[in-house]
Amino acid sequence: MRVAIAGGGLAGLSCAKYLVDAGHTPLILERDSVLGGLVAAWKDEDGDWIETGLHAFFGAYPNMLQLLQELGIEERLQWKAHTLIFNQPEKPGTLSRFDVPDIPAPFNVILSILRNNDMLTWSQKIRFAIGLLPAIVRGQQYVEDMDRYSLLEWLRHQGIDEQVNTDIFIAASKALTFINPDEVSATIPLTALNRFLRERYGSKIAFLDGAPPERLCQPIVDYVTALGGEVRINAPLKQIVLNADGTVNHFLIRGLKDAPDTEIVADAYVSAMSVDALKLMMPEPWKSLAYFQQLAGLEGVPVINVQIWFDRKLTDVDQLLFSRSALLSVYADMSNTCREYADPDRSMLELVLAPAQDWIGQSEEAIIAATLQELTRLFPDQIPHPAQVLKAKVVKTPRSVYKATPGRQQHRPQQTTPITNFFLSGSYTMQPYLGSMEGAVLSGKLTAQAITLANPAPSAVTQALNSPLSQPATNAATV
Ligand SMILES: Cc1cc2nc3c(=O)[nH]c(=O)nc-3n(C[C@H](O)[C@H](O)[C@H](O)COP(=O)(O)OP(=O)(O)OC[C@H]3O[C@@H](n4cnc5c(N)ncnc54)[C@H](O)[C@@H]3O)c2cc1C
Repeated sequence: MRVAIAGGGLAGLSCAKYLVDAGHTPLILERDSVLGGLVAAWKDEDGDWIETGLHAFFGAYPNMLQLLQELGIEERLQWKAHTLIFNQPEKPGTLSRFDVPDIPAPFNVILSILRNNDMLTWSQKIRFAIGLLPAIVRGQQYVEDMDRYSLLEWLRHQGIDEQVNTDIFIAASKALTFINPDEVSATIPLTALNRFLRERYGSKIAFLDGAPPERLCQPIVDYVTALGGEVRINAPLKQIVLNADGTVNHFLIRGLKDAPDTEIVADAYVSAMSVDALKLMMPEPWKSLAYFQQLAGLEGVPVINVQIWFDRKLTDVDQLLFSRSALLSVYADMSNTCREYADPDRSMLELVLAPAQDWIGQSEEAIIAATLQELTRLFPDQIPHPAQVLKAKVVKTPRSVYKATPGRQQHRPQQTTPITNFFLSGSYTMQPYLGSMEGAVLSGKLTAQAITLANPAPSAVTQALNSPLSQPATNAATV
């Protein structure tokens, strides 16, 4: 069966991968000249990679890890020491670590919290632990139910000290969703915490060993094309053209540089575009359907990625850092964390600026100046002197992952739509891993399974039904 997929981010790529596994023939149509969407990157005039975003992988990403295993590229993840590191704004230049011992969960995480005396007092820790009990005991259902509260409301409701918010949750909230705890749904940090408390290596962090388009997306493309699929870049979906009964007749692809538009006819159609792009393209007859109306409650959140090259080494920390500053979310010295960017003499900091609502319209110069100002607190001995900036780059994403404010869960759609030959994929669709790379990969897999169940390819149904959603693959028998 031929399946047209609009969008070559991780969701579209994962969907194509699992469709070829099930015996189908996917065709990915990506608008841009580079694959990856929110993980896209490109080289600048000096040959340096410019990334859409700093990306960290977690041990609690079973579907991503399974995909990498199936592609035979799991060694491209560079796993770091099992520790979470926070800057201490009240003591500029100092770090506080939550070292997670190699013992079973949840004791490893609990011990890491108990052993950290920089950030929380004993009474705060005990009240925090008691507040978390319902999430631990009642699990994901409780976590989902808490979507009616913002994180700040939930913390107050549970009697957890405000200090826990300022110390830990501001960092977690900004890192997970690019918004502050007074805005973020309590479901988001609770989901992450729940996984960290259940999985021994859930909070272990890894970095890809190079730029995602080459090191992550290209192997998927190679796999898909080797099995008969096709991937086209510079192929923007212009219109979803319908039959009289409301099903999809074809995708209309905009011709670039005066080329004519192209009709793509397939047996099934997938939108793996962001929710914002899909809403702009929604065919008129679909707008009255409740399923599509729910998308009105979802909208991408702004975020900014900043990369700064320095003339010297600022730190030897080989890990993601949570800045706990008002401006920044997480950052890393990529000259330490990423093999392809390694440099023993110079640092390249990659920093995520969030919330970015007030910054997205500002000039690059203003963003870089504010970031450097913030860095004087993170590296007081080095910035502004003696370290010199060699180069700085800013990538603005006005609409990234869906904005996870309270009440959004009910707006997240299933991958199967009421239109029999049209499916959705994307980290915003309903899956338990939030707006993340893991969520994108899982959504793609769920979409491929839904298509296969609705339209079995010869001898493919058993395969699709048996394909695990979260266990590591034991073989690549489908290749
Ligand atoms: C700064 C930043 C940092 C992040 N950090 C992390 C992290 O550390 N860990 C983590 O797990 N996640 C992180 N994420 C989130 C993660 O990148 C996303 O959740 C994931 O990549 C989303 O994948 P997707 O395929 O669902 O959507 P997208 O990546 O948005 O893909 C959608 C694709 O559709 C294409 N498209 C749009 N319109 C059209 C059209 N008309 N025709 C054809 N194609 C179209 C787009 O070009 C894009 O390629 C981060 C994101 C950002 C921006």
